[in-house]
Amino acid sequence: MSLNFNKVAFVRSASDRSHFLRDGLPQFAFAGRSNVGKSSVINRLVNRKNLAYVGASPGKTTQINYFLVDSRAYLVDLPGYGYAKVSQAEKERWGRLMESYFQEETGRITAGVLIVDIRHKPTADDVTMHDWFRQSGCPEIIVANKLDKLKKSQVEPALALIRETLELTEDDALVPFSAEKGEGKDTLIRLLVEKCGG
Ligand code: GDP
Repeated sequence: MSLNFNKVAFVRSASDRSHFLRDGLPQFAFAGRSNVGKSSVINRLVNRKNLAYVGASPGKTTQINYFLVDSRAYLVDLPGYGYAKVSQAEKERWGRLMESYFQEETGRITAGVLIVDIRHKPTADDVTMHDWFRQSGCPEIIVANKLDKLKKSQVEPALALIRETLELTEDDALVPFSAEKGEGKDTLIRLLVEKCGG
């Protein structure tokens, strides 16, 4: 199977389970803490500058955005986490939304894409999100973004720290990525297509 990531359209935002899409198409769920570059990674994948911001409006950070790729799979942009200025009420809304997404969609998530910052040890929130993907049983791809910010000699130790913190095995995919420069894009697309049964 091939998927043309250049053919992409925003479908809808969901702020509760009544808006989830359940038409059986594969779902690639993207998660990451705020500012890690999740929108930039998505925009890079689909060769658009602003796609991943389409559904986002100020003060409405707790929503899931669905994009349809090539009429055949959904790219699901889960709301970012770990932003310090978010109120307690908003955090709770985030928790409820994620809980219902994982409850409903377990078994339906084709692949989880967890985006972390290659420069830093994954945070406690990253570990929690990683556990949610694991518990859902879906294959997971870890994207280590902002590769361009490291010197070559720093890359391997940084990847080792991510592997160790998330307790990844040899089978878990860890993709060094730069949303800024485009490195890792082809690998990520190949892995996603593979998880789709291609
Ligand atoms: P989000 O909150 O996770 O959606 O993050 P954004 O996509 O808005 O990116 C947050 C900031 O990081 C922006 O200033 C981006 O330009 C920057 N950024 C994202 N990815 C990269 C990358 O691969 N390299 C560099 N140098 N900056 C990046």
